Amino acid sequence: MDIYKKLKELDFPIGEYVVVGGAMAAHNIREAHDLDILVTTNLYKKLLKEGYKQCLCEQCLSTSRIMLNKDNVDIVPNYMFGNYIGDTKSLIGNADIINGFPFIRLEEFIKFKRELGRPKDFDDIKLMEDYLRKTVNLKS
Ligand SMILES: [Zn+2]
Repeated sequence: MDIYKKLKELDFPIGEYVVVGGAMAAHNIREAHDLDILVTTNLYKKLLKEGYKQCLCEQCLSTSRIMLNKDNVDIVPNYMFGNYIGDTKSLIGNADIINGFPFIRLEEFIKFKRELGRPKDFDDIKLMEDYLRKTVNLKS
């Protein structure tokens, strides 16, 4: 998936969202299959009015997850799982800006994925930790 093409199409207002799933692709760590975007309540309400619909997949229904879905883009108004409770405002405020778009900081994404805890999350965590280690080495 070309995440930048997609983000350009969506054209969400800066300061109102942060890309979560897709952050690894922004750093060229691995390709993105879909985009997950955390948005403010304000933007969430606006998207609902514009015709975005609640996702009715089995997982959303069984966990009462509030999420909009459209063309492989998932949009959520809160970011939490297990013991991880993301603060939307600071996640947006502290985002990494890459190619003009805001992405969740990888350190934060790692914390979230650790709570999700599926085998593929641990694969991703390892990839991100290796990447961060290399980046730190380059800077020092
Ligand atoms: Zn769903």
